[in-house]
Amino acid sequence: MPELPDVEIFRRRLAAKGLKRAIRGVSVRDPRAVRPLSPRRFAEHIRGRKFVATRRHGKHLLARLDKGGWMTMHFGMTGSLEFVGPKGKPPRFVRLAFDFARGQIDFADPRRLGRAGLTGDVESFIAKERLGPDALAPSFNLTALKQAVAGRKTSIKAALMDQSAVAGIGNIYSDEILFQARIDPRRQAKKLSGAELSRILRQIKRVFKIAIARGAGSEHFFERLPRSFILPQRKKGGKCPSCGGPVRLFKSGGRSGYYCPRCQS
Ligand SMILES: [Zn+2]
Repeated sequence: MPELPDVEIFRRRLAAKGLKRAIRGVSVRDPRAVRPLSPRRFAEHIRGRKFVATRRHGKHLLARLDKGGWMTMHFGMTGSLEFVGPKGKPPRFVRLAFDFARGQIDFADPRRLGRAGLTGDVESFIAKERLGPDALAPSFNLTALKQAVAGRKTSIKAALMDQSAVAGIGNIYSDEILFQARIDPRRQAKKLSGAELSRILRQIKRVFKIAIARGAGSEHFFERLPRSFILPQRKKGGKCPSCGGPVRLFKSGGRSGYYCPRCQS
């Protein structure tokens, strides 16, 4: 599932290949991808215009249109944004395609849970979606993290995954962040000390920066991660990269996660 680092990679791809170029055509191949807008309204709003800036907030990607307003994208469980050159082969399961003079940008999504939309401005979109601060924003500091988890009776893992508390962290990266911070993911969020939250904050920034720098979501991504990461071991039979012991699966609130019972407390 695309989390902050994956969406940041999509944002960079759109910025590199789709900015300041006339969008010759918009093809909505699956009407669900733009719901509740009609495919026609979505396409007509964008066709003939240009994207002039990109932004990411948590797991949402936004692209500003030259005549004002923004296109929004959320990638659901399996969405991705791919650039295909003039002679390239498009990916499978394309739901939306943006045609530029030299190539196209495809929104592919096998499971069809991703969505694209339109909004007048970013701040009201963030408010409407009830998103907390972006996890990588400089303003998301220790004070902000303390506010995000204050009084929460849920586990620290669930608190970090709550997009209204902090935006961008999902099931996979919450495991890595808590492993790196050596915190048991099942602990109650409100009972963590300031020092423990400080460790978590540092790892949110560090883990995401490393994942982005190493090409999150790309082929052989796990092989490019530091050997100290638990991500490639999130599976049955996985071994803790720190102590070599077995990683353990746990379930809470309908979600499952992995941790090392020896290294995380
Ligand atoms: Zn361990």
